[in-house]
Amino acid sequence: MTAFSDLHLCPELLFTLQTMGYDQPTPIQVKAIPLILEGKDLLAEAQTGTGKTAGFALPMIERLSKTPATEEYHKIRGLVLTPTRELAVQVGDHTLAYGKHLGMRVISLYGGARFDNQIRKMKRGADILVATPGRLLEMVSQKKISLAHVEIFVLDEADRMLDLGFIHDIKKIMSFIPHERQTLLFSATFSPAIETLADTLLKTPIKVSTSTRNATAKLVQQKAYKVDNGDKSDILSFLIDGCHWSQTLVFTRTKRRADMVCDYLKAEGITAVAMHGDKLQRERNAALSAFVHGEVRVMVATDVAARGLDIESLPQVINYDLPNLPEAYVHRIGRTGRAGKEGMAISLVAPDEKNYLADICQLINKQIPLQAVPTIENGQLIDAKKSAQNPPSTRRKNKSGKAAKPKKTSKAKTSPKHLTQATGSSPSDPTTSTPSNRRHAGRRSLFDK
Ligand code: AMP
Repeated sequence: MTAFSDLHLCPELLFTLQTMGYDQPTPIQVKAIPLILEGKDLLAEAQTGTGKTAGFALPMIERLSKTPATEEYHKIRGLVLTPTRELAVQVGDHTLAYGKHLGMRVISLYGGARFDNQIRKMKRGADILVATPGRLLEMVSQKKISLAHVEIFVLDEADRMLDLGFIHDIKKIMSFIPHERQTLLFSATFSPAIETLADTLLKTPIKVSTSTRNATAKLVQQKAYKVDNGDKSDILSFLIDGCHWSQTLVFTRTKRRADMVCDYLKAEGITAVAMHGDKLQRERNAALSAFVHGEVRVMVATDVAARGLDIESLPQVINYDLPNLPEAYVHRIGRTGRAGKEGMAISLVAPDEKNYLADICQLINKQIPLQAVPTIENGQLIDAKKSAQNPPSTRRKNKSGKAAKPKKTSKAKTSPKHLTQATGSSPSDPTTSTPSNRRHAGRRSLFDK
């Protein structure tokens, strides 16, 4: 197994990676980092969620740090072009974090932000500039910045660049960059158009790709259920218990919520462990081992703690909370449906998380319809035909403050808990499960108290 220390990165970068909890390089990092350090041009097939950013940013920082800026003004020596503002921010933030202990000045420039503010940001220059094509061209054309000293040029998500029609902007930008440079082209897919672009930009490039699957792969079924925040724990245990799942990874936004959910599940009779940054290494190892070996059915983790965990091919991943960074979603659900196996990723989406879902759909370029909580028949999820028309939070309240009966629901036995509770009905079919009839069966929620 390759370690970061095998990749000839300097001690400062190794230290940074350790503090960030990156235990081991991803396959694209193993392949790309040594080649980039050797100064080669690269044509890399890598999707979001594979760790591609660190794959180009780490060796770029390493190379540029060999000749640190000596003047107050930092000349732009590393340039990364990204198709979207979100990606520019994300790549910029990650690159800044990686270069922290090497004094790298990293700035992101993108459209939509005020031009004068961005010029001000560039007052002292940047060692690495991450930019969207349009805004960069504006700045360069107006001579606000110079690209005459670029040594390493990265085209990130090249296929999306072409889809978005940036080819002319890219060509114009190229005319401002020195011919003598290292060029790295990253793309989620290789197409004839990408090959043609590569021919014009790269010099005797080395082609690398990895079999690491993108989390948005077809074999991962992605579902989003519309829930109220207060119902999440109940719905979670309903799903795990009702479908008899034996290995489920659950993600929460905070450590406290991870502990809370873990306690809740245990009280419901579902074996669970929590994995987060407050746990001692010894506890983390024990938790992981219990989960991997099937001694517990559920691991409840935060994003940071789950990073670098060597768990493959999980059948289910549940987002108890949606992450506020959409790429974290990709990273999370990349843990299911691997190596040709089917997987399911379920997100419990409270009303205040809808924007996160929209960001995720935009990033993965795929719609995940928000639907009503399903029922379960004979251990199988039965999705409601239509998405919930009235989210619980927006439903009309009656005088007693309780949610009014929805105008139209499917049969009571197939209604999710919040609807059956609202109508006061209790499903009678023993093969059909809803969060409600489980509670009628005698279980009590910790949060009921
Ligand atoms: P990317 O494919 O660059 O968007 O990366 C996806 C996610 O993986 C980001 O949240 C990174 O912080 C994280 N990441 C990148 N490399 C590693 C690694 N070697 N170990 C753990 N997490 C990583």
